[in-house]
This record gives sequence, C-alpha cells and structure tokens, in this order.
Amino acid sequence: MKVGQRRSKQRELILEELKGVTCHPTADELYEMVRKRMPNISLGTVYRNLELLASNGVILKIETGGKNRFDGNSEMHPHVRCTCCGKVDDLHLEVVPPVPDRQSSQGYEIIGCNIEYFGLCPECSKIKENEGPTH
Ligand SMILES: [Zn+2]
Ligand SMILES: [Zn+2]
Repeated sequence: MKVGQRRSKQRELILEELKGVTCHPTADELYEMVRKRMPNISLGTVYRNLELLASNGVILKIETGGKNRFDGNSEMHPHVRCTCCGKVDDLHLEVVPPVPDRQSSQGYEIIGCNIEYFGLCPECSKIKENEGPTH
C-alpha cells in the first residue's frame, strides 16, 4: 500500500469512530478507540488527522479550556459541558440561535458557531447532593 493510501485509510477510520459516538471524545480517548482496530496507529497521527478534519470543517473541535474534544457532527448544534467531570453532551433544543446574515454580522461571513452551556451533569449533581449538607 502506498503511503498516501495508508494515510487516508487512517483518516477514514478516525472519522468513522468519531461519527459512531456522541460522547465528544478527546484525542486521547479517540486514539484508544481507533487503536483497537488499527493497532499500529500513533497518537500523533490521530492528533494530526483530527486537526486536519477540524480545519476542513468535516468535524467540530470543541475547545474546553483543557483538552480539546471532537465531534463527528459538524452541523451547528449546542453543547452542554459539565464543569465538574468535563463531559460534553449534545443539547437538543427546539430553538437554536439563528445564524446572522452578513448585514447583522457587521460584514463578517459566518462559518461557524460555538454554543456551549455549562453546568453540572446528572451524575455530578447527584454526587454534590450526597456530599453537601444533609437536608
Ligand atoms: Zn459531570
Ligand atoms: Zn456535539
């Protein structure tokens, strides 16, 4: 197999794994998933391909301030992030903020949008409740 073919095979596999989950994995988590199917792949390759796919708009990169997470769904959709454990979920809202046209965006051509809500996930709020003052 030629190098170019091998590269695109790796990228395909990374994309396939990412699109198969909704948990918005970090590059490290995705590496563990991909490695099960392609044991020779390196973490650097996974990182590089994720960055490439994100910059091409094929996937979304979610910058969380810590480790970046990746999303196989590149359609605009809001996220909710747990400030305690860091997990990111999709929010299925009935109304999402509109994409402004060029006039209302002051001449900017809008190519993406990052809507992130944050709070405590159900598991973490349960833990907090148990830890908190007894009621
Ligand atoms: Zn949590
Ligand atoms: Zn998402």
